Amino acid sequence: MADTALMSIPGQIDPVPAPRDVTPRADGRIDLMGLPKERIQELFAEAGFDAKQAKLRSKQVFHWIYHRGVGEFADMTDIAKTMRPWLTERFVIARPDVVEAQHSTDGTRKWLLKTADGHEYEMVFIPDADRGTLCVSSQVGCTLNCTFCHTGTMKLVRNLTPGEIVGQVMLARDALGEWPKGSMAGLDGAEDSSEYRADGRLLTNIVMMGMGEPLYNFDNVKAALKLVMDGAGLALSRRRITLSTSGVVPMMEKCGEEIGVNLAVSLHAVTKEIRDEIVPLNKKYGIEELLAACAAYPGASNARRITFEYVMLKDKNDSDEHAHELVRLIKEYDLPAKVNLIPFNPWPGSAYECSTPERIKSFSNIVFEAGISAPVRTPRGRDIDAACGQLKTAAEKKSRAERDREAAAAAAQA
Ligand code: SAH
Ligand code: SF4
Repeated sequence: MADTALMSIPGQIDPVPAPRDVTPRADGRIDLMGLPKERIQELFAEAGFDAKQAKLRSKQVFHWIYHRGVGEFADMTDIAKTMRPWLTERFVIARPDVVEAQHSTDGTRKWLLKTADGHEYEMVFIPDADRGTLCVSSQVGCTLNCTFCHTGTMKLVRNLTPGEIVGQVMLARDALGEWPKGSMAGLDGAEDSSEYRADGRLLTNIVMMGMGEPLYNFDNVKAALKLVMDGAGLALSRRRITLSTSGVVPMMEKCGEEIGVNLAVSLHAVTKEIRDEIVPLNKKYGIEELLAACAAYPGASNARRITFEYVMLKDKNDSDEHAHELVRLIKEYDLPAKVNLIPFNPWPGSAYECSTPERIKSFSNIVFEAGISAPVRTPRGRDIDAACGQLKTAAEKKSRAERDREAAAAAAQA
């Protein structure tokens, strides 16, 4: 048998480096966005506060930034008036720049954002009757090249920093006007925010399903989600957060243990041949290994099921036999699972068609009859290219044909 560990995957690069926590700025000020309280405290001490002041002020500033959504020290009313300009000279609380905001006819909203060094990325808000979900990006582009995904065709890839990741949630709360007006009382020091109530808010859930592979940017995603889950921060319960991975097996247990959010896995195929083709990471971490890691995922239970995402590609992975095999695999590994069937969303140059509604129905019925929930995800925001797999910034539009030509040229050179 071939040694898959040594097999090179065309077009696949391994995880890209993470930028430093404090990004240097032209004006010399330090950006606090994305930093935990302890780091803010250290920076305050380095800037000249004594230990006691650094502790107190970092706690206040942290609360203003993440719990109240305040972006200016001038508005932090419990900090001495004379101290506010001193802070403003040295520090800044930067939001990602919004390049464009779009609104779909179905209520879905998409924002094109820009990092300080000029990289573009996207976030999407999907309102439903009983919830509102923010789809957050973890990277600019993606190194993994799944053949049906537009993001995978982006040439430039860089990890987003914790500030750029949590900044998306902050921007969404800005846009939706949803910062709490209350005090810190009762939330102070809370490690987790399972007591959090949505209070009729629009933004209730977060999915790490935007651009990029979150488990290839583990440290920054973890740092950002800690701020989102902190009771004195954005205060969203980990039960309302789902991280989707294409199957980075060695990071899955760590994800469950150290972040503790719900897991979604982009399975998309049940045979080695097909999954190798459409999710090339499968050549590194195969289906059996992936399902074993799912079975061992910390915190998975019948109350907190693992979601298996399955994109419906016409004549590729959508037969009744595939559905039966999916059921067999879920049973074999005894997985607390639900299946999310995603109609394929086309993009310019994509090589696939979406399965017919009858095919999707038949597939769904087989899984459902085996006692496994298998809803079909309604595509949202297709008119503004906000649906699953359509995310790709305007600057980076490139057809599959162009990519294939490039890959062929690279192979010829090798
Ligand atoms: N990289 C992670 C998370 C982002 S993708 C992952 O792959 O899981 C979010 C989901 O959208 C994944 O299940 C992905 O496979 C799916 N997706 C990608 N392109 C799609 C397309 N064109 N149509 C429908 N779903 C797509
Ligand atoms: Fe990357 Fe996920 Fe798209 Fe695959 S489906 S290319 S892992 S973003």
